[in-house]
Amino acid sequence: MTVYGTRPEAIKVAPVIKALEASEMLDSVTVVTGQHREMLDQVNRTFEIGPDHDLDIFEHGASLSMIVARVLERLDPVLVAEQPAAVVVQGDTSTSIAAALAAFHRGIPVVHVEAGLRSGNILSPFPEEANRKITSRIASLHLAPTMSSRDNLLREGVDPETISVTGNTVIDALLMTAEKKTPFTDPGLESLADSGRQVILVTTHRRENWGAMEGVGRALARLATIFPDAQVVMPAHRNPVVREAVLPHLQGLNNVTVTEPLAYGEFTRLLSLARVVLTDSGGVQEEAPSLGKPVLVMRQDTERPEAVDAGTVKLVGTDEERIVDEVTTLLTHQATYDAMAQAINPYGDGRSAARSVSAVLHLVCGGPRPGDWKGGSPR
Ligand code: UDP
Repeated sequence: MTVYGTRPEAIKVAPVIKALEASEMLDSVTVVTGQHREMLDQVNRTFEIGPDHDLDIFEHGASLSMIVARVLERLDPVLVAEQPAAVVVQGDTSTSIAAALAAFHRGIPVVHVEAGLRSGNILSPFPEEANRKITSRIASLHLAPTMSSRDNLLREGVDPETISVTGNTVIDALLMTAEKKTPFTDPGLESLADSGRQVILVTTHRRENWGAMEGVGRALARLATIFPDAQVVMPAHRNPVVREAVLPHLQGLNNVTVTEPLAYGEFTRLLSLARVVLTDSGGVQEEAPSLGKPVLVMRQDTERPEAVDAGTVKLVGTDEERIVDEVTTLLTHQATYDAMAQAINPYGDGRSAARSVSAVLHLVCGGPRPGDWKGGSPR
């Protein structure tokens, strides 16, 4: 049984669900919590996944505790009815921690996809760093995306026999989707694609950045003014806190495009068109390097050090001046740009879902244990 509730989880479990469905040894049951609503349904449509159960917990303004409480309450009877051999959760959301706990309470083994990411700061990202650590304490199988996430788990005393290094399933999702060259529903984006204009792609939503969002909005407005021939494109997260802080700064600027959240196929196409990516997203930090796009991360720390070490991702924080300076440098210094714009694949090779399912089969049916993915070398 796979349980998920937000856009990033949906993208990253979609290849796993497809691989579970294709397995002759397993039946796949999917449960969505509805922690996100439209953005979750959008991903399910992209990957043609029709959930078997929908806990429908979404409520505007729900606190973290309300989300966790609702998932616990509504998932428990589904677990009792379905009696799954294992429950698969992904990442670090309130859905994943609550689903892991609900399964644990019923004595059902928990499989943690994307296990072992650590920023080292319990408050950043918040609450995700804590969610990951708690899930690691109760999971029976840890599917670590990279050797460094495996090392994080070993340092915390996790039994190495319970860890498989699979690569990150987001790269499977990206490769499944990017080759389709999805048309944009927004005609403005379609003509931007033909225009050859430089695209500065922006996504932001992190809870710990909410206080800094006004400065991010001002930085984007200044960049649009400094680079009138570039186009700032921001698919705006549904969260009203983000929208209210950032969007007023962008009004009236004709080289700024603010869109609704894009369907995954459209977003990955936009990513492939971008010159520079400015983001606080985890998933985008993983996707952009494999497309050779320099990423400036609006955070102080990251649990995804691999692309930072390789030089294609740089942490720039949320200070307005710093954001303006860093983007300006990338757009005006070709050598700096070229040094960052290398296509590297530290996060996966597109076979992570297959390895994940082999590891699940080892857990529930005693099949052979898959070998660890040792990738991460430049393409
Ligand atoms: N994404 C998308 N449409 C958008 C913006 C992002 O499909 O308009 C995808 C993106 O490719 C990535 C994921 O959503 O895979 C990231 O989600 P988000 O930034 O919400 O969460 P995080 O990765 O930070 O957990």
